Amino acid sequence: MALTDPPARRGLLFVLSSPSGAGKSTIARKLLSADGHIKLSVSATTRPIRPGETDGVDYHFVDEAQFKKMATDGEFLEWAHVFGHRYGTPRAPVEASLAEGQDVLFDIDWQGAQQLYQQAGGDVVRVFILPPSMKELERRLHSRATDSDDVIAARMERAAAEIGHWDGYDYVLINKDVDACFEQVRDILAAERLRRSRQTGLIGFVRSLTKGT
Ligand code: 5GP
Repeated sequence: MALTDPPARRGLLFVLSSPSGAGKSTIARKLLSADGHIKLSVSATTRPIRPGETDGVDYHFVDEAQFKKMATDGEFLEWAHVFGHRYGTPRAPVEASLAEGQDVLFDIDWQGAQQLYQQAGGDVVRVFILPPSMKELERRLHSRATDSDDVIAARMERAAAEIGHWDGYDYVLINKDVDACFEQVRDILAAERLRRSRQTGLIGFVRSLTKGT
């Protein structure tokens, strides 16, 4: 058997969670443009679209009735209430990506990470990103200038609760410097791709090695 380059591998489900403002979206964007083997799972949400967002790219923006129908039709891998809105991961694109041998990146909260892990266990890698301090988190939320003070106050409260779920993750990073944090995320992804259990093509290759071919 010839060694395919790279050997066949099970796709993985790479979850990035953090309180909003901890840098997760920037890191996710950098990862998607630097790595051709991972695709973003675009969630559906009932929250209103923000300036600068594109329907179908950042989220699929749907109304309550559409969301509920998708949920009852079993179209979500997981879904949760976040900040008073519903957010869910459409199942079909994830399955299609995995079938194509692509990894999938999820920007979802701890509830989503937990549900995904319950469903896909060993195929899931969960990474949590912490801010260096709550003060810095608040500063970053204000500098984004996309949300009102009330929304920011609610996000700070929510951040404290979200941080409490750090122990439901495989890896925990502190984002002091976004470039350094990004490199750590890439290192995790690179190492996880090399796990023996994911390298399904290795059996045949090792057999051919031991036969001396
Ligand atoms: P935002 O409204 O700021 O885009 O996202 C709010 C929170 O919802 C973030 O923590 C984000 O990770 C989370 N989120 C986005 N999509 C999903 C999803 O499909 N499922 C779950 N459980 N959380 C999501």
